[in-house]
Amino acid sequence: MYPVMLNLENRSCLVVGGGGVALRKVEGLLTEGARITVIAPEPVARLEELEQEGAIRLERRAYREGELRGYALGFAATNDRRVNRQVFWEGENLGIWVNVADDPDICSFHLPARLKRGALQIAIASAGEAPFVVRRIRRMLEKALGPEWSEWIQAAAGFRQKIKKSNLSPAEQQRCFDRFFDSTVDEQRLAVRVPNPTEEATWLDPLRACNCCDTPSGEPVLRERNGKGWVALVGAGPGDAGLLTLKGYRRLLAADAIVYDHLAETVLPLELRPEVELHPVGKKAGYHPVPQSEINALLIRLASGGKRVVRLKGGDPYVFGRGGEEAEALVNAGIDFEVVPCVTAATAVSAYAGIPVTYREESVRLTLVTAHECRKLGGKQSRWDLIARDEHATLVGYMGVTSLPSVVKRLIEEGMDAQTPAAVIERGTTSRQRSVRSPLCELPQRAAEAGICPPAIFAIGPSVARAEHLDWFTRKPLFGTRIVLGSSAKNFARELEESGAEVLALGQRLTPASEVVLRALPVSDLLFGSPDEVDTLEELRGSPAAEGIEAAWCIGVQTAERARELGWSGVIELAGDIDSATLVNSLIRHKTAVVMPQELKIQGR
Ligand code: SAH
Repeated sequence: MYPVMLNLENRSCLVVGGGGVALRKVEGLLTEGARITVIAPEPVARLEELEQEGAIRLERRAYREGELRGYALGFAATNDRRVNRQVFWEGENLGIWVNVADDPDICSFHLPARLKRGALQIAIASAGEAPFVVRRIRRMLEKALGPEWSEWIQAAAGFRQKIKKSNLSPAEQQRCFDRFFDSTVDEQRLAVRVPNPTEEATWLDPLRACNCCDTPSGEPVLRERNGKGWVALVGAGPGDAGLLTLKGYRRLLAADAIVYDHLAETVLPLELRPEVELHPVGKKAGYHPVPQSEINALLIRLASGGKRVVRLKGGDPYVFGRGGEEAEALVNAGIDFEVVPCVTAATAVSAYAGIPVTYREESVRLTLVTAHECRKLGGKQSRWDLIARDEHATLVGYMGVTSLPSVVKRLIEEGMDAQTPAAVIERGTTSRQRSVRSPLCELPQRAAEAGICPPAIFAIGPSVARAEHLDWFTRKPLFGTRIVLGSSAKNFARELEESGAEVLALGQRLTPASEVVLRALPVSDLLFGSPDEVDTLEELRGSPAAEGIEAAWCIGVQTAERARELGWSGVIELAGDIDSATLVNSLIRHKTAVVMPQELKIQGR
């Protein structure tokens, strides 16, 4: 079987037969501009319509011997095998190519399954031997290659025209084509993007074009210099993925390997390429699974091998994160490194808990301490004596859960007012944020009663009391919701997030990075936009991250059916054309309905 693309513009084609199969052939031919005659005694209504519209010629009768003569191509699609064969053999005698529907053995050409994205066409065939596979492959590609491919192929054609008009040598032209392709196609993810005119101008100009190429998201990718890799120490912020800096995000997208802390898990971009190496070196309070020396050695080994490495650390890399030690190890090993700072827990977590860390005339200094200091070395390095007497200041303590009782005791002994407003905040900025506020002297006991666990910070000082009315985050209607969105539900992300939900907008496939993010904290809700998305998340069902799922929101009847079929509980069906505002309201109503009975129970006690 030899594949060709036929130019059928204005060529006469004969279709014998007038059922559904014949209609599909006619429709396919019409889009290519063929002149079509259909011969059928009882054509389906749509063929009649097409005749009335002047799109085809229709003969309402049986096929007569010799009628194929004069046509460029013939299609036999009747339900009478004898007629089909007659057309085929006449074609053989006349030298006219004939396709017989569903009879691959008597066909002078087959019709491949095809996928069209603008001028780009992909034809799939199996020489008639396994059509079921052909159909599945077509569906697979249809999902993988989105409509953006049409715009992209158009851009590629436009770019080629520009190159043809230039007077570049053939070798230079080829380099321009390569730049276009390398910069607009993500081969791993089968993703494309349309470049902007400035980029195209750069690729066309050999003097301006350099070796740095762009990722599909338009972010520049740093290539390793002289075959040497680099390490970026990137701050991830305290947990809310939206607090990652743009620069940190770019470095993550450009990375070949990411070495990340437990606290940074929620911030990994869900769109990371699947082949990016992920190295968890999670430090949880109390134990250090990977010793610092090994982390340093890992960074050096990866970068020495020419890899672009991101060392992703919770909060800011240089605030109680041992970032300085890692940077020194890199300098000593002669590795290029840079630091991308980010918001630290002291300011960000306090802000999310309603605490302004400074306040004019009331709190004019901010002290950050590691509470460990109080236990180790008897607190010799931290001047608890000075801190305790610093009335117009806010004191924020990191790693403060186990040391809280000794810190509070020490501060009061050194002269701090036992009634100073104080708070402990756990898992700040995430859907799991919890906090306890009380006068300083009561804080250790209140935190223990509430079961506050690391990661948590404490904040002590007059402005902490302002959280009473400035607590904006936990008052958002969807605070506490951690919702996973299927790929087609992405457009709901912004409104859900603005209403206080932690949103995980997945791509079409679950990647290793998205699995880390999914499992970092319990998921409370799912939003599926199609049955396929239900299938994609099947792996999540039964995993610990899915244990707390309250509702599986499904857009459209079929999606809901699929979710029930696969055993998701709490399936809620939504209209196929639901808008963001209605969706957000449904979630809010549902949350209040779920909370209500508990509240009543508490009141009744
Ligand atoms: N480099 C980080 C701090 C790392 S030390 C930063 O700049 O924030 C780890 C400690 O940070 C934790 O024990 C906790 O005290 C604090 N921390 C980090 N993220 C936090 C969060 N989301 N909520 C509360 N405390 C947090």
